[in-house]
Amino acid sequence: MPVLQKSTFKGGVHVPDMKALSSGEAIVTLPAPERVFISVQQHIGKPAAPVVAVGDHVKKGQLIAAQDGFISANIYSSVSGDVEAIKPIVTNAGKQTHIVIKNDFTDEETLLSPIDENDGDAIAKRIGEAGLVGMGGAGFPTFVKVTPKDPIDILLINAAECEPYLTCDHRVLLERTEEFVAGARLAAKALKGAKIYVGIEDNKPDAIEKLSTYDDINVVPLRKKYPQGGEKQLIFAVTGRKVGVGKLPATTGVCVLNVQTARAVYRAVVERRPLYQRVLTVTGKGIVSPKNLEVLNGTPFSEILAFCGGMTDNARKAVAGGPMMGRVLSSINGYAKKTDSGLLILAEGEANELEPSACINCSRCAKACPMFLMPMYMDLYTLEGKYDRANDYGVMNCIECGACAYVCPAKRDLVGSIQYCKKKLREMSAQGGK
Ligand code: SF4
Ligand code: SF4
Repeated sequence: MPVLQKSTFKGGVHVPDMKALSSGEAIVTLPAPERVFISVQQHIGKPAAPVVAVGDHVKKGQLIAAQDGFISANIYSSVSGDVEAIKPIVTNAGKQTHIVIKNDFTDEETLLSPIDENDGDAIAKRIGEAGLVGMGGAGFPTFVKVTPKDPIDILLINAAECEPYLTCDHRVLLERTEEFVAGARLAAKALKGAKIYVGIEDNKPDAIEKLSTYDDINVVPLRKKYPQGGEKQLIFAVTGRKVGVGKLPATTGVCVLNVQTARAVYRAVVERRPLYQRVLTVTGKGIVSPKNLEVLNGTPFSEILAFCGGMTDNARKAVAGGPMMGRVLSSINGYAKKTDSGLLILAEGEANELEPSACINCSRCAKACPMFLMPMYMDLYTLEGKYDRANDYGVMNCIECGACAYVCPAKRDLVGSIQYCKKKLREMSAQGGK
């Protein structure tokens, strides 16, 4: 399909993309670890409920924790072996139940049952059964997205990959192109024949060229700007449609899926493999050898980093995800999840090590905000404990993109403040207050 006109959105920031560190690194499969530590909370919503017991033998692809409620997702084993423990483990993501499986290295595998690849309802059901969630980081259960109440006419693949440093989606588009395209077509069938659009930043010309050879794929190059991959920003840039305040993208007739989620649809339907692996980027100047790795769910971060040569002597900060929206790791004690798109090790000079100072009312944060909010006031009222006032400034509409904090000359922790305010407002709401 012809490449459509270049688009963008209002607000946002221009951030050095730093992708050259890993964009040329072909995907390598990380050898399976001796043990996997699989969290039952890898999605938005209720944790999955374990359906195995300590001592059970499990196969690769076997259900080990079942979806619990509508907003939840199934979890599958990524190796064959024995369940050694089911226990809470504290990581930087908090305290979560993990199923620990000792790998027997036989790679004994179980597949999902075959389905009719032309039956949209069966594909949607398979998406739920296979435990698919948004793999761009949000972790929203994909089944819910492909079965909306509102009619959908556009399946929009989020290939912006606007977070600096990350290149895993780019590599999947280049190296797993057929799987990605097949998965997008299957997802479009689940959405009753929606047209497929791919929104992709113009710093990936090779992927744009490759995708433009498919007649049914509408490729929309986007100006490189952060957060181009925010759902509302992407929908506006590609379709011109605006998602109302507090509304879901489906109300505009658009369903947005991540590149790797689309590939996972292919694996679930055609290969009959549930979601237990993904490609993630290990990068930053603090890692010896940046790579794009195909990683099994539950692989310890420490083994992923060791495979990449370990950290350099001047490594200063570790982040799960990208530098703008990722989670800073206080120690390397995490395990790979469905939603982990990157492990970033920043070196001295790369990481912000400045202490926050007083706001100078420069309003740069407001100019950068893609949601047209006033972060300085939300921060101020949160610090004063006036959460209602911060709410009046639309704090709940913040997408936590970090653009405001990036431009703030005072290096204020604006996103941390906003997240805290949202938490307090939710608590107040649960207690019956505003
Ligand atoms: S206020 Fe929220 S949406 Fe606006 S720039 Fe800051 S983090 Fe992004
Ligand atoms: S960018 Fe920082 S210093 Fe400037 S108004 Fe916003 S919070 Fe204050």
